[in-house]
Amino acid sequence: DGTVEVRDLVVRYGPATALDQVSLTVGPAEMVALIGPNGAGKSTVVNTLSGVLKPSAGTVAVRGRLAHVPEGRQVFGDLTVEDNLRLGGRRYKLRDTGPVHAILPRLAELRHRRAGTLSGGEQQMVAVGRALMSRPDVLAVDELSLGLAPLVVADLVRHLRELNETRGLAVLLIEQNARLALDLCSRAYVLEAGRIVAEGPSEELAADD
Ligand code: ADP
Ligand code: ADP
Repeated sequence: DGTVEVRDLVVRYGPATALDQVSLTVGPAEMVALIGPNGAGKSTVVNTLSGVLKPSAGTVAVRGRLAHVPEGRQVFGDLTVEDNLRLGGRRYKLRDTGPVHAILPRLAELRHRRAGTLSGGEQQMVAVGRALMSRPDVLAVDELSLGLAPLVVADLVRHLRELNETRGLAVLLIEQNARLALDLCSRAYVLEAGRIVAEGPSEELAADD
């Protein structure tokens, strides 16, 4: 089972402190939200988890394989859905798209379509499918809901929750949309200007605002 443990993380960009003593955990098979407005430091957290950025201080530990669904439904529009998926497994030489089709059956139906011709929700599903091709233990999902209809988001989340329940996938959902994130996750952290300003069970955080 995958887990994430961030302890007293500090990240500086030159003289600017982007993250100041941030601590958060995602336990095995947990689905946790990281909520914050633009500029709060959410991407910096993800980039530190994925190893793109080094902590200035503090520690970051990811147990298991981490995959990241980037913001903005990033697909290769001129490639088919199937080729988009295969790119996701390349780094680990995983070519079989069958397991991802089993999780997201719609992607099997769409496999010959060029990704650029799909709806926004379908493109986001391709982006999630591509991340799942590496068979991750931890999935960090950046702004899943951005620009998507609530029903489309609910459908995507249903699939994530299924994976979370059946295979112990740990999920960190990074969202500007606090309402949605609190609805979807049992536990949440609120990040503002590089600091965690609130954390706890979603129902408690929702009652606060
Ligand atoms: P979020 O993802 O929540 O919008 P970011 O992690 O992108 O926030 O940014 C956090 C802060 O760090 C912001 O003030 C942003 O301007 C700053 N920042 C992000 N990336 C860089 C960088 N490469 N160089 C300098 N400052 C940066
Ligand atoms: P949404 O309302 O979710 O944005 P769209 O209106 O973009 O969805 O698309 C509705 C349906 O039409 C989807 O199944 C999508 O795959 C299909 N579609 C959209 N654009 C094209 C296109 N250029 N060529 C083929 N099919 C398309």
